[in-house]
Amino acid sequence: MSEQWIFLNDEFVTKENAKISVYDHGFLYGDGVFEGIRVYSGNVFRMKEHIDRLYNSAKSILLNIPYTKEELTNIIVQTVQKNGFEDAYIRVVVSRGVGDLGLDPYKCPKPQVVVIVEPLAIFPKHLYETGIEVITVATRRNRPDVLSPKVKSLNYLNNVLVRIEAHLANVSEALMLNDQGYVAEGSADNVFIVKNGVLYTPPGYVGALEGITRDAIIDIAKELGYVVKEEPFTRHDVYTADEVFLTGTAAEVIAVVKVDGRVIGDGVPGEHTKRLLEQFRKRVVSEGVKVYATQNVNAG
Ligand code: PMP
Repeated sequence: MSEQWIFLNDEFVTKENAKISVYDHGFLYGDGVFEGIRVYSGNVFRMKEHIDRLYNSAKSILLNIPYTKEELTNIIVQTVQKNGFEDAYIRVVVSRGVGDLGLDPYKCPKPQVVVIVEPLAIFPKHLYETGIEVITVATRRNRPDVLSPKVKSLNYLNNVLVRIEAHLANVSEALMLNDQGYVAEGSADNVFIVKNGVLYTPPGYVGALEGITRDAIIDIAKELGYVVKEEPFTRHDVYTADEVFLTGTAAEVIAVVKVDGRVIGDGVPGEHTKRLLEQFRKRVVSEGVKVYATQNVNAG
């Protein structure tokens, strides 16, 4: 396999040499922000939306990303080019940088920027045909007024705890409720239910990340003539839905066919979910920022 290149603070290094200090506050305190982006057939899907969300997350925690949005967009494109991938997952991380052992971010003079590009599929292929089983877990979503899920920070312990519960229950993913018992989202994906042909997804204030795949699905569904409602719903609504599916950069659109032991619909991916996944996959290969049409500054 050819060398994997990682962008690390102004230069490309090999995976083996991509190392940062143990005094980095991303490591010590989860102080930083990140994005997960996807490139399909050489097109970076919704790059602008991901870049905007990254800069908004950073602004919210007073972290200055040391590049303009244009510069970082180019860095991401170059990292994909340098690795020669057509289809891949892109991870962009900006940490507060190296400081001392205290948590004061003002002692961290230089944020660290990392871009990693890797082939990835989180769910095995066959699960898109069969659908997945999920549970709801005891771990509640961070309250938005405590730690806003809109900030895609390196503080993912809430989500990690959910994933541990899913693992212990031997299911692929789990849903968390918010402190009021409304369904918020999965550990790394948004949730939709379909009832009588209408799509419902929790609004941001319930405690969900406003996912970019979620937005894309809302756009696609509206274009196809669906009514989409962003409103809070409960576990009961999920149990009695005709269809349930999750969305996310890594997950794309995946059907949920069992929730807490209740079979959803006919127990197989429903027609609306299948249609939305099909439209989504059609779209991602044709729209987006073209990686290989741009000048490769590293060529030669
Ligand atoms: N919720 C959480 C907690 C996530 O980590 C993700 C993945 N970024 C999502 C939802 C889905 O968001 P997106 O579609 O932007 O990947």
